[in-house]
Amino acid sequence: MTVKGTQDLLKKDEKYVWHSMRKFDPNSTMVVSEANGAWITDSEGNRFLDGMAGLWSVNVGYGREELAEAAYGQLKKMPFYPLTHSHQPAIELGEKLNEWLGDEYVIYFSNSGSEANEVAFKIARQYHRQNGNYDRHKIISRYRSYHGNTMGALAATGQAQRKYKYEPLGQGFLHVAPPDCYRSPFDTSDGQCCSHSASEIERVMTWELDETIAAVIMEPMITGGGVLIPHDNYLQEVREICDRHGALLIMDEVINGFGRTGKRFGFMHAGIKPDIVTMAKGITSSYMPLSATAVRKDIYEAFKGTEEYDHFRHVNTFGGHPASCAVALKNIEIMEREGLVERSAQLGNRLSEELAELREHPNVGDIRSRGLLLGIELVEDKTTKEPAHPDKLAKVISYCKQHSLIIGKNGDTVKGFNNILTLSPPLSLTDDDLDYMIKTLKEAIIRI
Ligand code: PMP
Repeated sequence: MTVKGTQDLLKKDEKYVWHSMRKFDPNSTMVVSEANGAWITDSEGNRFLDGMAGLWSVNVGYGREELAEAAYGQLKKMPFYPLTHSHQPAIELGEKLNEWLGDEYVIYFSNSGSEANEVAFKIARQYHRQNGNYDRHKIISRYRSYHGNTMGALAATGQAQRKYKYEPLGQGFLHVAPPDCYRSPFDTSDGQCCSHSASEIERVMTWELDETIAAVIMEPMITGGGVLIPHDNYLQEVREICDRHGALLIMDEVINGFGRTGKRFGFMHAGIKPDIVTMAKGITSSYMPLSATAVRKDIYEAFKGTEEYDHFRHVNTFGGHPASCAVALKNIEIMEREGLVERSAQLGNRLSEELAELREHPNVGDIRSRGLLLGIELVEDKTTKEPAHPDKLAKVISYCKQHSLIIGKNGDTVKGFNNILTLSPPLSLTDDDLDYMIKTLKEAIIRI
């Protein structure tokens, strides 16, 4: 369906809407007006296969009437009451998330991934203080990671280009090298790239005095920083390091969670138990805003002191909105009914097998993937690994768009270069959609 007056809408858009990140460009801004399955339609009636699932987030795909009905039903019945008291959708969702996490966690609900991480930092700091460890306040994260846009979550983020205009940010945030086996800063001739990255966390803890460290936060697989997939032993080693030094381990599952990497949560590949798990995006497949900070039961217990100020002093008006929780429950029901986590693993295997031949291409430095999360690192020269010129990425992205496929670009490898093409499609992608995505991407890269 063509929406009348796209040009009019774009003029008003330029006047009234301040967009994230992108410069306004009427030639490339889409007014997205409809969406179904893995496909979106713009106001001119052009259809695109959404290889990024919105913002790595529409896991069950578009056009799910059941989700609209879940929101409608809840809004009619009881549209809002804050979680200073409680309501059934939040209670049921808390129970369901425990089942998905496979352990006992108590859930604090917010609206966005950034807030979920802020909550995790505040809980980590207060937990240590509650236990008499007043000096434990520092949070360790990795360079190239993204943890959100608010002052604390941005401080934890390891991408200087996103941060320097807003500094000074929250204090007490330290960064270490990510497990990037393609560009490791360590001598990796022993084949132990990920172990070296894990050891750096321990070195920093020791240098900083481990009794000042509150927590380590990381995505199991770095996503926006250019899709970095560590060996499973990396997370296992990080878990052991945190245990040895009394720091909490926070897993940022905002993108990894809800099947993206072929398991329910990314940390499950390594078989570890995090202390805190943050989630957003895929929890509702982005049909409604919702995020969650799942906290190990015994950590929560430390907040049940006798004094008023022992409680977690954090209130959030919309967090755990009943309609969002109702949508999340239905979203998870769809994922279970359609086996979308397993499907992500299966389609992901096919995706990586079929794209493997691109490794021969002179500008393809590395291909990394797990489940339906994929990154292709483009370089000018395979020996020097100089990041590919932005024009090369622009050419691939534009070819894909001309052929009805939307892909992403991320990275922050060297001086903020975004030289990594990314794919993170809906997990409900059909086989034909997948074939089309693979074919189009190959054609685009071959033409660089
Ligand atoms: N953590 C990760 C890993 C993310 O990718 C994002 C968002 N892209 C966030 C946190 C922040 O989420 P939000 O944009 O919902 O605040």
